[in-house]
Amino acid sequence: MSEKVYIIGHKVPDLDSVAAAISYADFKNIIEETDKYMPAVPGKINKETKYALDKFKFSQPEELSGAENKNIILVDHNEFSQAITGAPDANIIEVLDHHKVDFKYNKPILFNIKPWGASCSIIADMYFNLDLEPDKNLAGLMLSAILIDTVLTKSPTCTSIDKIIIEKLSEIAEIEDWNKFGMELFKVRSSVSDLNAKEIIKSDYKDFNFKDGKFGIGQVETADLTEFKQKEEELISEIKKIKENGGYHTVILMITDIINEGSWVLVDSDESEKIEKDLGIKFENKKAYKKGLLSRKKQLVPKFT
Ligand code: MN
Ligand code: MN
Repeated sequence: MSEKVYIIGHKVPDLDSVAAAISYADFKNIIEETDKYMPAVPGKINKETKYALDKFKFSQPEELSGAENKNIILVDHNEFSQAITGAPDANIIEVLDHHKVDFKYNKPILFNIKPWGASCSIIADMYFNLDLEPDKNLAGLMLSAILIDTVLTKSPTCTSIDKIIIEKLSEIAEIEDWNKFGMELFKVRSSVSDLNAKEIIKSDYKDFNFKDGKFGIGQVETADLTEFKQKEEELISEIKKIKENGGYHTVILMITDIINEGSWVLVDSDESEKIEKDLGIKFENKKAYKKGLLSRKKQLVPKFT
């Protein structure tokens, strides 16, 4: 094995997973006075990630197709079902994440989990704890990731620590109004005019193995529901297709309205009534609105585990 250590986020990369890989590599290289830590991505990046990378002058991290026999650090996930191909056969040296824990490994490693709003909050905290600062552009990139992951601090996953870190990073990045900047990011993110139903569902999509069977849950966040309303029929039939082709028990798409703070839940399931009961909603034509539902991780997934 080479000395090189790849820092890599989950499959279907989102902004936090990519920004965490870049910032944690920067942090580790600084404190260990080395250049062996390399950010990497396990697949194509999404458009708000591309937007943030361009805005803060970062190039896209190297895309890895497999992790077999490589030294890797997992960021922003800890479940092998969400990890790059070959992760179980890689030399995992560390995990840094803010999701529920479902991880087993055959040796002791540094396992850094904090129940905060974003992986980048954990990394920013590590800089600040050592009286270090990410540079201006890196602070902007990390801020972008935290704003997206916490839905501009509105998500129930957002903690008081995330809010302090958002203020600190805004100052370093010289962004006066982070709320306004965050809305800009969400506008880029939620424009679906150029995407088909499958691309929308898969843009932030995760598999889960629950007691009842395999679930696939996608989430999109938007400041404007109209584009989704127009594509509703197409989305519902694509969900059905994904469910059938993927051997799922249930496939769900959460369309989260960040302005009104609630989500449309589109579903296709072997046991719709059970899902209704679990979520406390009633589906009409395979969809229902749930006020206050914003977080897949904190509000939806726990209902099924
Ligand atoms: Mn993520
Ligand atoms: Mn995250």
